[in-house]
Amino acid sequence: MNASHAATLFPAPAAATRYVGRFAPSPTGPLHAGSLVAALASWLDARAHGGRWLVRIEDADTERCLPGLGEHILAQLAAFALVPDAPPVWQTQRTARYDAALQRLIALDLAYPCGCTRREIDDALRAQGVAHARHGERVYPGTCRLGLRGKTARAWRFATWRRPGGVHWQDRRLGAQQQDVARAVGDFVLRRADGPWAYQLAVVVDDADQGVTHVVRGEDLADNTPRQILLQQALGLPTPRYLHTPLVLAADGQKLSKQNGAQALDTGSPEAVRALLQGALRALGLPVPADAQTPAQLLAAGIAPWAALYNPAL
Ligand code: GLU
Repeated sequence: MNASHAATLFPAPAAATRYVGRFAPSPTGPLHAGSLVAALASWLDARAHGGRWLVRIEDADTERCLPGLGEHILAQLAAFALVPDAPPVWQTQRTARYDAALQRLIALDLAYPCGCTRREIDDALRAQGVAHARHGERVYPGTCRLGLRGKTARAWRFATWRRPGGVHWQDRRLGAQQQDVARAVGDFVLRRADGPWAYQLAVVVDDADQGVTHVVRGEDLADNTPRQILLQQALGLPTPRYLHTPLVLAADGQKLSKQNGAQALDTGSPEAVRALLQGALRALGLPVPADAQTPAQLLAAGIAPWAALYNPAL
């Protein structure tokens, strides 16, 4: 794309900082043990780099978000002394930015409207002999690539077929990664026609606008990264460094998530807060200091061991 246009659409943040990290929870449920680990890891990495740590409430997918939960998550974070270095950003206040990015992708012929229902997608996949969708996610068969043919638009999709080949990236914990997005994921949704913005587009625009240089988040999001890198490249945006943290597993060995009913964190007493932070340090393979009492002391004690595990020069 034309680099000067990208520069006007996304000017560099005024005060370019060496390191900007962030924690970006979705208010679809309260913080759970897994999200506390991601928050702690992103905070430790920012402090190990002498950088800034931001919080963004990812409420772009309005249908899945619950009222009041963003504020609740911020209060939970504060109970762990995880206080951002700038006022939190809320995605619902940033839709004009997502729209600008979508319009840019449309102008570049990298986004197109799709009128397919789920059922039509399944039927088309079956007709192509595709039995299983990866992670239950359907690889869009490309039906609307060449036009809606009288159908009503239901979503905007990214034209991955125009970006064939693998996306390669280096995760600071997982090492060399690669994915052919067109084959593995297909033309993913950028926005549903009825309104909500997809995480992939919003996260890329927000990370760029906030000047985020390092993303530290849970390993469950690792396979979203190539989609985000494709979007960054298409929009002429820098790609941050990525580190995906180990997942916290539920007692049954399943991934702990809001979906499988992960317990909301009890921040009702100093003992409970301390035990939760100690558990999060342990989940990251960090030592639990015997003498640290307050949340701030526990956090501070984690910085040097974190830096020893994950070289801050990266
Ligand atoms: N909002 C996403 C979530 O809570 C995380 C986004 C990110 O860290 O990139 O799962």
